[in-house]
Amino acid sequence: MILIITGPSGVGKNTIIDALSRKIKFNFSVSHTTRPKRVSEVNGKDYHFISNNEFQNMINNNELVEYEEYGGYIYGTSRLELQKNGLVILDLEVNGATKLLESNSKFIGLFIDIDDKELVNRLKNRGHNSEFIAKRMDLADKQRNHKDKFHFKIDNVDINTSVNDIIDIIYKLEDRW
Ligand code: 5GP
Repeated sequence: MILIITGPSGVGKNTIIDALSRKIKFNFSVSHTTRPKRVSEVNGKDYHFISNNEFQNMINNNELVEYEEYGGYIYGTSRLELQKNGLVILDLEVNGATKLLESNSKFIGLFIDIDDKELVNRLKNRGHNSEFIAKRMDLADKQRNHKDKFHFKIDNVDINTSVNDIIDIIYKLEDRW
């Protein structure tokens, strides 16, 4: 089963997927990106970190099922990642997630959100300035227009509750993977 997880930046997708990985078994779809690696990240595990040229080659060779520009870098999912076995979880920004979800009726979409006040707080805690935060809040509003296209919505008030709710959803869909 292909489970596409999305939501505005700052809602806690990463933390949730990380916590999920400690509770259930799944294959994470490792995206390709032109973004430089952060110190805490591992190449091949968090992302495949590649150059602009390499990314362009993948596009030309039709190796990607979707790709999007985000924050000045490109991110994409390769066809190979979707061939992984069992439950495959993808962490995508909203445009790519929506397009991929619409491309195959078997894919399951999950939209994670939090309320505006909390989102501002989290972006502040990440050290972003008010201009950046205002832009991300505008973007979040646009991204929420796609929310109803997703099968499941999680309001991430409490991480443990969110993780348990997602596990419930996954088990209910178990016959699909
Ligand atoms: P970050 O740079 O913080 O790791 O990720 C930035 C955004 O890119 C996040 O919203 C993440 O979900 C999204 N993202 C990561 N991989 C992909 C991908 O393969 N395709 C798309 N469309 N978005 C991705």
